Amino acid sequence: MTDLVITHLYPDLLRTYGDRGNVVALSRRAASRGFSVRVEEVSLGQALPPDSNIILLGGGTDNVQSIIGQDVASRAVEVRDAVARGAVVLGVCGGYQLLGHSYVLPDGSVVPGLGVLDVETHASRDRIVGAVRGEANLWGKSFELVGFENHGGRTTVGPGAEPLAHVSRHHGNNGRDHVEGASQGGVLGTYLHGPVLAINPELTDAMLARALVTLTGGEELEPLGEVLERRAHEAMARRVRDDRRPARRRLAVAGITAVVVLAALGAPEALEKHEDGDFVGRIGVGPFVSEAHVDRAAVPDMR
Ligand code: GLN
Repeated sequence: MTDLVITHLYPDLLRTYGDRGNVVALSRRAASRGFSVRVEEVSLGQALPPDSNIILLGGGTDNVQSIIGQDVASRAVEVRDAVARGAVVLGVCGGYQLLGHSYVLPDGSVVPGLGVLDVETHASRDRIVGAVRGEANLWGKSFELVGFENHGGRTTVGPGAEPLAHVSRHHGNNGRDHVEGASQGGVLGTYLHGPVLAINPELTDAMLARALVTLTGGEELEPLGEVLERRAHEAMARRVRDDRRPARRRLAVAGITAVVVLAALGAPEALEKHEDGDFVGRIGVGPFVSEAHVDRAAVPDMR
């Protein structure tokens, strides 16, 4: 008997951004600890293996989601049974949306979901795109979660589920409420690609520990030397910082422009000449004053 059966649902259809890598990450980390692993690929009309311990759904376009919507909804009972047996389910992006009640497309048509996660998604014209870093809380553990998101859907987490991670505004489920992903018992959804499990070993191990609990009796999994996963995680975390830098630069340029405009409008106190010939401007009020260093070339009329 195999220790761990990983079922990859619709590998031929839900496969944006290499989400198949999640299957590889789980298999490798389970096998490295001596567990035997079987991977099953299940597509339209094919039955779910009744011994699945982990079920994975990747991301997909709106078009693909509407093609598979009915097939997905017809699996609600078998997926719910698998979860009741202790299986762990992970949906990424389009797959996450399909774990919820439904996904409402821009034309108002509704793609039904599995309804195993209390979330609801509505498509929006603007997409939420970028590198993400957040604080995840899952099954009593906290860890940093990183990844890349690109989705038009705006997801709302209902009272039956919990957010997977807290993120900064403009990211995550809907760009408004600072949360990313959702969990409900053994069911997880996230908007993060990467593939998310390859770059977040804590999440991968949390899933493995839960899926293997009948074999381990709840013992912690043996730690692994995970240099590559750590480096990939750190690289993505760095990308989040790099993504923010242009915004900071824009803010600095806006500050300098404001000082120059004030000076040109005749507020001489806005700029002070420095001994090196450049100017220092102050903007803000009271304790919130900040200084901007302005190159003399940017202020042609100042003496
Ligand atoms: N089609 C969905 C959306 O845009 C999911 C996209 C994806 O899986 N990358 O919201």
